[in-house]
Amino acid sequence: MENRKRLIIAGGGFGGLQLARKLHNSDFDILLIDKQNHHQFQPLFYQVASSRLEPSTISFPFRKIFQNSPNLSFHLAEITEIRADENAINTTKGTFFYDYLVLATGCYTNFFGNKEIMKKCLSMKTTGEALEIRNRILLGFENIFPASDRENDPLLNIVIVGAGPTGVELAGAFAEMKKNILPKDYPGADFTDLRIILLEGSAYTLNNMSEQSKKTSMKYLLELGVTVMTEVFVTGYDGSTITLNNNEKIPSKNVIWAAGVTGNLVDGIAKTSITRSNRYIVDRYNRLPEYKNIFAIGDIASMKTPLYPNGHPQVANVAINQGKNLASNLKALLNGKPLKEYEYKDLGSMATIGKHRAVVDLPFMRFKGYFAWFIWMFLHLMLILSVKNKLMIFINWAWYYLTRDSSLRLIIDPGRKNDAENL
Ligand SMILES: Cc1cc2nc3c(=O)[nH]c(=O)nc-3n(C[C@H](O)[C@H](O)[C@H](O)COP(=O)(O)OP(=O)(O)OC[C@H]3O[C@@H](n4cnc5c(N)ncnc54)[C@H](O)[C@@H]3O)c2cc1C
Repeated sequence: MENRKRLIIAGGGFGGLQLARKLHNSDFDILLIDKQNHHQFQPLFYQVASSRLEPSTISFPFRKIFQNSPNLSFHLAEITEIRADENAINTTKGTFFYDYLVLATGCYTNFFGNKEIMKKCLSMKTTGEALEIRNRILLGFENIFPASDRENDPLLNIVIVGAGPTGVELAGAFAEMKKNILPKDYPGADFTDLRIILLEGSAYTLNNMSEQSKKTSMKYLLELGVTVMTEVFVTGYDGSTITLNNNEKIPSKNVIWAAGVTGNLVDGIAKTSITRSNRYIVDRYNRLPEYKNIFAIGDIASMKTPLYPNGHPQVANVAINQGKNLASNLKALLNGKPLKEYEYKDLGSMATIGKHRAVVDLPFMRFKGYFAWFIWMFLHLMLILSVKNKLMIFINWAWYYLTRDSSLRLIIDPGRKNDAENL
């Protein structure tokens, strides 16, 4: 028993969860701390936002996941400070002590310091935010389509900023909704003036993918009726009108910001251990070089390797595999064995655009169209945690595929806080 060590894992995203699961029944007493009570499958947030999936199908309560893990306890709390000299962290639920600390706090939406945009735009970094988008979009439809006078109504423009995979997938899903679902929900209404607008600063959609995927994604989006504007930057947004760098103005009440992320840093780590893009600098073993017992994995970690001199891409696969590698290195540390360096094997990237269309870049091959969509579906289903959730998602997708409809368009208002307080 003397050999047991206290390990705190800060954040149960893709990296933290993988690490905790791999250390099941090990010689570590693990405390997993997260400010959410559930693990979130972020790649499918856009399907919650576009009323395709229920949040519960892509959210996994930590207490359920770790019901049979006697060496792990969970705390729902926000980590506010690291006191490295004392091997302690402060949280909203008190102070905890560790022998080893792993930071796996991921990222949040990057508004590039523009407070006005941050306040007024919608973002999609949590299940709650994806639900908020769903509510706002559905409420918008309720307010405009029965209306007789709606010319230039800002609700007629749904604007998505950033044409990376998230922006492209979201734009495709809303365009599908306009084409297949709204005519059934609002019979007789005219939707020609409802616009899905995708804004992108670079010259291409999916700018980090292959030439083929860039061109194909643009083609698919245009075929679906999405208005794509490239080489434009948002300079302001007052809640009703977006201003672009070319002074063009677009009226919109629903602007979704998908233009980048920045690290969820916790106070207490020396500035010299942090990159300009707010990631912790780590060595090949995911250790912060200035601290012998603090590690970082996933989106928040920046590891320079000969293959990736600017750090690894911020994707789920890197987080998962760094979690796995660190689990075996922590066990090795305990047993005085040599540690193994981490390197990312690029498995490619993909994005889906509307129904049965996708682009997939594998290291040696590229696909598009129906077959790519099938690969996209299969891989996402494989990554979902429980068999029950895989089945639920599969049934939802199959139903949508066959009927071009779903029954999830619920506007769920969490209710007024005062009502609860008055009980
Ligand atoms: C909309 C969207 C779509 C995406 N699509 C894809 C995709 O298709 N493919 C792909 O590979 N990647 C995708 N990504 C990126 C992928 O989700 C991330 O790379 C991955 O989640 C990183 O894992 P992580 O463990 O580093 O962090 P995360 O999974 O973000 O987890 C971080 C955890 O830390 C918790 N946390 C943060 N700060 C604190 C704190 N101070 N105290 C307590 N808890 C804290 C959070 O609640 C969260 O649970 C997408 C991301 C988004 C937002």
